[in-house]
Amino acid sequence: MSEHKGSCLCGKTTFTLTDDAPTVALCHCTHCQKSSGSAFSVNVLSPRARFSVSGPLKKFDDVGESGKPLRRWFCSECGSPIWTEAEAMPDVAIVKAGGFDDAGWIKPTLEIFCDSKQQWTPLPEGLARFARMPG
Ligand SMILES: [Zn+2]
Ligand SMILES: [Zn+2]
Repeated sequence: MSEHKGSCLCGKTTFTLTDDAPTVALCHCTHCQKSSGSAFSVNVLSPRARFSVSGPLKKFDDVGESGKPLRRWFCSECGSPIWTEAEAMPDVAIVKAGGFDDAGWIKPTLEIFCDSKQQWTPLPEGLARFARMPG
């Protein structure tokens, strides 16, 4: 099983994901836009048990479209978003792809919340697209 390491911008928060084939979703929801400061976030979804993280993390308590709580964890030193826990998917770690040291293995296969996609965003062909959250 491959180990993928990553960190925040300042390097005080580090993480490891041990997963050969996580699901990678581009999320166009407005909360991802605001919390990432970008047009969309690239989310790597893996079983929670395969993700370990340490560092000076803080969380923002958000609410997902399901109406259930989301915890958006970020480095308290530099503000980099690291990962999200969703009560709607308690066994899943949603890791921000941008923090990985080597992102060459990351292959998005779906896009979600396309309803709020920024119109200029160029995206690869062949991804499964959902207006909101897939059921
Ligand atoms: Zn940091
Ligand atoms: Zn999102």
